[in-house]
Amino acid sequence: MTVTSKDAQTEGTVNPREMALQQLAESAERIGLSEAIHKKLAKPKRIVIVYIPTLMDDGGFEVFTGYRVQHSMERGPCKGGIRYHPDVTLDEVIALAMWMTWKCAVVNIPYGGAKGGVTCDPQSMSQGELERMTRRFTSELVEVIGPEKDIPAPDMGTNEQVMAWMMDTYSMNKGYVVPGVVTGKPLSLGGSRGRSEATGRGCIFVIEKVLRAKGMSPEGATMAVQGFGKVGSVTVRLASEIGFDVIAVSDIWGAVYNRRGLDVDALLKHARETGSVKGFPEAEDIARDDVLTIKCDVLVPAALEGTITKHNAEQVQARIIAEAANGPTTPDAQQILDDKGVFVIPDILTNAGGATVSYFEWVQSIQAYFWSEEEVNSNLRKVMIQAFHDVYAMSEANGLNMRDAAMDLAVSRVAEAQRLRGIYP
Ligand code: NAD
Repeated sequence: MTVTSKDAQTEGTVNPREMALQQLAESAERIGLSEAIHKKLAKPKRIVIVYIPTLMDDGGFEVFTGYRVQHSMERGPCKGGIRYHPDVTLDEVIALAMWMTWKCAVVNIPYGGAKGGVTCDPQSMSQGELERMTRRFTSELVEVIGPEKDIPAPDMGTNEQVMAWMMDTYSMNKGYVVPGVVTGKPLSLGGSRGRSEATGRGCIFVIEKVLRAKGMSPEGATMAVQGFGKVGSVTVRLASEIGFDVIAVSDIWGAVYNRRGLDVDALLKHARETGSVKGFPEAEDIARDDVLTIKCDVLVPAALEGTITKHNAEQVQARIIAEAANGPTTPDAQQILDDKGVFVIPDILTNAGGATVSYFEWVQSIQAYFWSEEEVNSNLRKVMIQAFHDVYAMSEANGLNMRDAAMDLAVSRVAEAQRLRGIYP
């Protein structure tokens, strides 16, 4: 599902790690980062590669390759998801770990960045195979993860159940219960209220602030959303609650459009019942990728990487793009959008609500003291709005687009921590 190095090459662009390094180099240049700190931040702190022998249901063994990349611990323990996907590569995991460092710094939570992944196809594996693979993977990582070191979370292809197996395996290896080793756990194992909706909710907080900053209001503004999964569906529901007309929504199977606004509750029900937005009776079916170029106030890519490219950026008619997905806009496309005056809210700000509530979950797990959903949502709001103000102020002060401003803010925060701590020994 993900668009990674392979697709990036067909686009004629660099692979994700090269893209992340280029972003760092450009930011280093703008903020006058010291050469020593730049050199250090260009490399992860640690890369762990493990081979995961797994008993399959047919009695045979598969040996999967798993990665955990810890990019930075300058501002706190590492934090980042675990991805199960056939296209997982080391370069992709390195890039995603680096982006996690910047994301945690943008929202100013006390974490560094990490990411993990296993190259596998979870959709073709049974629950038993997934459990055995996850438990062996976790056992191989026992020495490098932990609540004070590195805290995994779900990402593409992983979910609450996978986190429950990871938490249990780590706890069994330690001999006592360690709920703070992962976030995105089920509520009954110490998960946080509000976690499953946090990314979509965070997107909405930021989108609302951007509209206000531009003298617009959500009431009657139009929105198109690519992707109707964990992030896209929550974003759509909350957008409609604050007055948006959500006029187009897509998923992997197709897209639907109603220029007067979709009935969001009915669409959610239709998608639950049929597995797709396609064929929703109160709308017109359109070509899946037309959602990206439809005329609207806010376009929310909430599916995959690399969907707004030099091939379609010119056709984008949205005034604002809120990147709920990680890396949906290629660098060439960003340049085209800048020239057209499209206001792009970058992923490391827009979708940081998930990381933020993961931080809240870790705090609750460590304290064994749990918050109400209202408390979670209101603290999330404060963090997201502060982050928006910090990035917006930097963008206005330095004449930068929001992506460059977010990067400069993040890299400066990490560099400041590194400068104060020094480079050991
Ligand atoms: P998901 O698997 O729950 O949903 C993905 C959705 O995208 C599905 O509806 C799928 O049908 C759709 N999709 C796939 N290919 C498509 C295509 N070509 N065109 C249109 N739709 C397509 O995943 P998710 O958790 O919602 O994550 C979506 C994005 O948000 C990813 O980039 C992810 O890295 C990012 N993200 C997620 C979280 C989180 O908390 N889940 C946090 C931060 C960032």
